[in-house]
Amino acid sequence: MAQVDRQQWDVVVVGAGGAGLRAAIEARERGARTAVICKSLFGKAHTVMAEGGIAASMANVNAHDNWQVHFRDTMRGGKFLNQWRMAELHAKEAPERVWELETWGALFDRTPDGRISQRNFGGHEYPRLAHVGDRTGLELIRTLQQKIVALQQKDFAETGDHESGLKIFQECTVTRILKDSSGQVAGTFCYDRETGRFFVLEAPAVVLATGGIGKSFKVTSNSWEYTGDGHALALLAGAPLLNMEFVQFHPTGMVWPPSVKGILVTESVRGDGGVLRNSDGKRFMFDYIPDVFKEKYAETEEEGDRWYEDPDNNRRPPELLPRDEVARAINAEVKEGRGSPHGGVFLDVSTRMPAEVVRRRLPSMYHQFKELADVDITAEPMEVGPTCHYVMGGIAVDSDTAATVGVPGLFAAGEVAGGMHGSNRLGGNSLSDLLVFGRRAGLHAAEHAADCEVRPEATAAEVDAAAAEALAPFGAEASEEGPVENPYALHQELQQTMNDLVGIIRRAGEMAEALSRLAALRERARRLGVEGHRQFNPGWHLALDLRNMLLVSECVARAALERTESRGGHTREDHPAMDREWRAVNLLCHATENDGAGHGVRLERIRTEPVRPDLLALFEKDELVKYLAEEEL
Ligand code: FAD
Repeated sequence: MAQVDRQQWDVVVVGAGGAGLRAAIEARERGARTAVICKSLFGKAHTVMAEGGIAASMANVNAHDNWQVHFRDTMRGGKFLNQWRMAELHAKEAPERVWELETWGALFDRTPDGRISQRNFGGHEYPRLAHVGDRTGLELIRTLQQKIVALQQKDFAETGDHESGLKIFQECTVTRILKDSSGQVAGTFCYDRETGRFFVLEAPAVVLATGGIGKSFKVTSNSWEYTGDGHALALLAGAPLLNMEFVQFHPTGMVWPPSVKGILVTESVRGDGGVLRNSDGKRFMFDYIPDVFKEKYAETEEEGDRWYEDPDNNRRPPELLPRDEVARAINAEVKEGRGSPHGGVFLDVSTRMPAEVVRRRLPSMYHQFKELADVDITAEPMEVGPTCHYVMGGIAVDSDTAATVGVPGLFAAGEVAGGMHGSNRLGGNSLSDLLVFGRRAGLHAAEHAADCEVRPEATAAEVDAAAAEALAPFGAEASEEGPVENPYALHQELQQTMNDLVGIIRRAGEMAEALSRLAALRERARRLGVEGHRQFNPGWHLALDLRNMLLVSECVARAALERTESRGGHTREDHPAMDREWRAVNLLCHATENDGAGHGVRLERIRTEPVRPDLLALFEKDELVKYLAEEEL
């Protein structure tokens, strides 16, 4: 039996981004002794990178806004595939979560009369994004960290130990969810990235808040942490994933120089007046307004421009369509030969706002382009193109409690959870999602832990198996099947496969090809080998992350091949229309038994729950006809 330290907690939160920290605060405030574990330094989670803002219908800038309008926008953006109860809770609770942040010390930008300022974003009917310049995520994390430190100081005053009730394990990775013999969650198997030391955090409740999967794609706005760990941990523990085919390609990532390709250009650029042009200088988005949005968007540049000053009497410009529409339009312009010199299109603020306003409202963008591309965005346009940004699919959860399906004690919140955003997320709806459902996950995890009369205990066999799995790359040997494989080479091949064959525009033949390449990569991954020892060994870390990326990539490819329609973040060239019959279908991914070369993926179709009538009544019948299947009407 492996010698592994064990520590006991009530709740373990995996991930220290917005969702994880909000969950931890709630669990601690409900009396649960809570451990937070994260791969990077505390405060360095992906949430820090969020730029544009948090969506919440506080109605500070337009008094017509309210939760019903936010709910409607979210459902429209997700093309009605959203788990409607999540969309309802999110729209209702987001304002409270933002005000709460302010009471914890967040310093938002203000309106002239001193309220929290809100900006426009794609798909949101009214200015709705509370923001701090274009560095909102930084302020969000700073505030949540400050709150955690305050709770630790309180614990210190009572117990003499800052970490008695809430402890952060930073630069540590979870590789397995542990369960007891009855299938209850019993804790997590972890290793310290610096020393390579293994340890177990025992707890009857675990919250997964590990973020997204972008590092499976070559061009992405995501940071190194986004290797789909939480998705894979849930699958391997027996909890299914929901609608993994929906991956958001943000329309505006940098395209040049190659070393920074994919880095995000925030949607605030368009929200604040930036326009997209092709190589002929044409504002091409007017040619790409889909029928379902026709009545809501301006038909002329003049009307679109007037909307910024007088939104009540004009329609918004089509640059502010939901992200999936804008990304497809850019892709089409480039394909038609009307792209910019480096394979994108032009995004221009220089002719739309005075230089000093650009520098004040978009400080990070100004510096990003100046330093990384030597482009002065106050004087010339940016070159931009689509980049893999966000995964709408994720762990299937109960809308109210964030509990996963079939694994008692396992909860999930934030980007790792599915359902909230349907087939396409609106900008700004992630930061609010983290706070609303992070809080709910923390609350219900704490309650679950308190209700456990007997603490579930991970079996020694499970702990031994997790240790052996983690050590396998050190013992890899060449065999008749092939040589020892290098994790970096395998990762590159995986990213290329997903980018080329399961990217923004999908075709059946290519996805079938992707699945066979993924199967071959999975086979080769059995022989992944690393040199050296366990002390800070990045090759080893990547070898362990690859199990997760391969599994999650197979989920995306398999579900994308199955869904024979185009909807939100899933565009099929061979099935270009949205199909009302598919609206009622959710695709669940389950892990199959280990066949020797690891676990594969099996799909299951389930029907979506009908939308509650009072929520349906918020829409015009004419609009619902475009989305809902006959029997749902
Ligand atoms: P994260 O913040 O990514 O945190 C994940 C945590 O899990 C990290 O601490 C990580 O270390 C940890 N972790 C992962 N795997 C493991 C493991 N195996 N073991 C231990 N720990 C693990 N959304 C908006 O709403 N508004 C915006 O303006 C906005 N701007 C964005 C700008 C950029 C550049 C990007 C990339 C995204 C943006 N988004 C925005 C999206 C949003 O930032 C993310 O969806 C959100 O931050 C995800 O938060 P999270 O708490 O779910 O995960």
